[in-house]
Amino acid sequence: MKYAALASGSKGNCHAFSDGERTLLVDAGISLKQIRLRLAALGWDPASVRAVALSHEHSDHIAAVPVLLRRTDWTLLATADTLAAVQAIQGIEIPPERRVVLRAGHAADWDGARLLPFTIPHDAADPVAFRLEWAGASAAVVTDLGQPTALVADHCADLDLLALEANHDVQMLREGDYPPILKARILSRVGHLSNESMAGLLARILQPRLRAVVLAHLSEQNNDPALARLAAEATLEGSATQLFLASQNEPLLVAGPGQ
Ligand SMILES: [Zn+2]
Ligand SMILES: [Zn+2]
Repeated sequence: MKYAALASGSKGNCHAFSDGERTLLVDAGISLKQIRLRLAALGWDPASVRAVALSHEHSDHIAAVPVLLRRTDWTLLATADTLAAVQAIQGIEIPPERRVVLRAGHAADWDGARLLPFTIPHDAADPVAFRLEWAGASAAVVTDLGQPTALVADHCADLDLLALEANHDVQMLREGDYPPILKARILSRVGHLSNESMAGLLARILQPRLRAVVLAHLSEQNNDPALARLAAEATLEGSATQLFLASQNEPLLVAGPGQ
């Protein structure tokens, strides 16, 4: 299984997984054009995309949905509450044949892959992170969560690859220019994960099989990639786990073993 972070940050998120033939996206928060351009830039065939799993209805995760409904035949996978919220926010109707309704805590079979959505604490209707078992590998995309709960740690056990939020440095956020109400929202238990909390979760779930950690959803205002990297490196020190940083504007490819 190959993984790519096509984009990650507050201006748009899109992750891609492929078994070499078929591609599954997690979130579609950048334009369809950018999704196709970035896949092609990595040497992936944009025509291999079959489906998009949506984590929650915030615009940096769903912006492309109306366009991809019109211009592609991709299936949308999301929980019922997230589908309802997306339809209400975008003023669209997602036809039944274009959607698969997921339930948090229940694995869904998708074209030979096992996709498990699980609940995360975030200020959305029914926010989930995803664990994916496909082509002999396990991966998870865990972003947009206020705190690393025990449930999250449980679902991050025995992974080969983890894309994990490192949203902010607490001191930079506290001392920065954001309005107090927004700072409070980000720091709340249903906000976003700090570098410190990210490192704490990483320490709990680190095991020899974990080949790659991709830090994701970094705030441009309230984080410094060097600080996020430092926090993760302190935890990963002495392990063989490779560390990557996803970015807002440049796609990042992490090839599977032997690829
Ligand atoms: Zn987000
Ligand atoms: Zn969000």
